[in-house]
Amino acid sequence: MNLFEKIKHNVKSFLLWELLVGMSLTGRYFFRKKITIMYPEEKTPVSARFRGLHALRRYPSGEERCIACKLCEAVCPALAITIEAEPRKEDGSRRTTLYEIDLFKCIYCGFCEESCPVDSIVETNLSNYHFEHRGENIMTKQKLLAIGDKYEESIARDRANDAPFR
Ligand code: SF4
Ligand code: SF4
Repeated sequence: MNLFEKIKHNVKSFLLWELLVGMSLTGRYFFRKKITIMYPEEKTPVSARFRGLHALRRYPSGEERCIACKLCEAVCPALAITIEAEPRKEDGSRRTTLYEIDLFKCIYCGFCEESCPVDSIVETNLSNYHFEHRGENIMTKQKLLAIGDKYEESIARDRANDAPFR
């Protein structure tokens, strides 16, 4: 460090230059519009393509969409989906007797919903969920259908909005 740099350094230290620079940055942001939101009372917009909690959908008639083709199970890279199926007694149509997703294994890649030929398994925009007991990470067919029934309106709207990308 030459003499000029030494003097400059000492003057800066004496005038608390770094502190002033820091305070000026704080001052600038103090008067700007705040971007912090009061979550969970306030929420930011969620993309129609957001991949959250899974759901199984039904047709408007109440019939479940899933035809037990097992494409979602085959494509799942995390081996998170387990399906068992057999022909339904009443009409011989192939239906799942067991459909489970292990959310501890799931990596939310969306391959399952992309592969489904009947738009049955989908990922909703739900991100507020948690587990308190062992085993709650397994999403059974009943739980998935219940989510689908409850949020069908928003699921259908998101898929319509996202249609150009599908
Ligand atoms: S989102 Fe991906 S990892 Fe999760 S169940 Fe579907 S295919 Fe498997
Ligand atoms: S959810 Fe879709 S892809 Fe998976 S088994 Fe059912 S119909 Fe096939």
